[in-house]
Amino acid sequence: MAVINSSYVGRFAPSPTGPLHFGSLIAAAGSYLDARANRGRWLLRIDDIDPPREQPGATDDIRRSLEQFGFEWDGPVLLQSTRSEAYRAALEQLRERGLMFYCTCSRKQIAEEGDKVYPGTCRERIEPPAGQEYALRLRVDAGETGLADLIQGAYAQDLRIEIGDFVLQRRDGLYSYHMACSVDDAFQGITHVVRGADLLDSTPRQIHLQQLLGLPIPHYAHLPVAAGPNGQKLSKQNLARALDAARREQLLWDALQFLGQQPPRDLLSVDLKSIWEWAAKNWSLNKVPKVSMQTYKN
Ligand code: GLU
Ligand code: ZN
Repeated sequence: MAVINSSYVGRFAPSPTGPLHFGSLIAAAGSYLDARANRGRWLLRIDDIDPPREQPGATDDIRRSLEQFGFEWDGPVLLQSTRSEAYRAALEQLRERGLMFYCTCSRKQIAEEGDKVYPGTCRERIEPPAGQEYALRLRVDAGETGLADLIQGAYAQDLRIEIGDFVLQRRDGLYSYHMACSVDDAFQGITHVVRGADLLDSTPRQIHLQQLLGLPIPHYAHLPVAAGPNGQKLSKQNLARALDAARREQLLWDALQFLGQQPPRDLLSVDLKSIWEWAAKNWSLNKVPKVSMQTYKN
């Protein structure tokens, strides 16, 4: 029996917006191997907080696909759709401390902002407005917030200037990814967040929320994300091909190669279990390319 190191807890947290693709395999394998190599636990969470973006059956598809690829998660799967009460309690904490406000800006006004930082229009609205729809935003006064990423190195944002007052709960009642992620990483006792570098710029916001809520801050390692030949990130939105279980050994080998682990060629002629054994035994976070994106041709 492998000895479990209770001081390492990792996770994979896909959104059920479609089937897993090669980009998801990178995040799943990277977080899994780092947990296994550290004799830690590895949890599976389904980030199903945005029903309009979800695809029916995707949660089951994801679980099946992970099983087919030989992933073994510890404990029960956590569904974010069951966690509203915890998000609500966190919001309440922020509200009590005057850190949350009611934003009634219309969709049009917000759209006009585009990528620009929220101008603080509703900052002083600390009571729910009668008869109007609103989103809940965090009052962000923090400056430089950063982290020492285990792969990408030092990264920081001036939250007030670069991000501004961000949304915690949308006007349709759905909780924001940052809110749910910060609360649940703490709830699950996650010590190491290993995920795609497309989320690096979300991390200062999540750290800020964790600080405000008095939650522990995990270590972060942001893996390079896979881009297609057009230089675009592989994603469900640009219809990246679903993982084909019939090619799982090859795809896992490709993922190891992508992650800089230099798997030997002859690993392609052994069974899946032996590939995982080799990968866990030889896993080195230091070998992962320190870039945010790499092309993958399949
Ligand atoms: N659910 C998010 C996604 O699929 C990732 C969450 C995370 O790893 O923090 O993009
Ligand atoms: Zn507003």
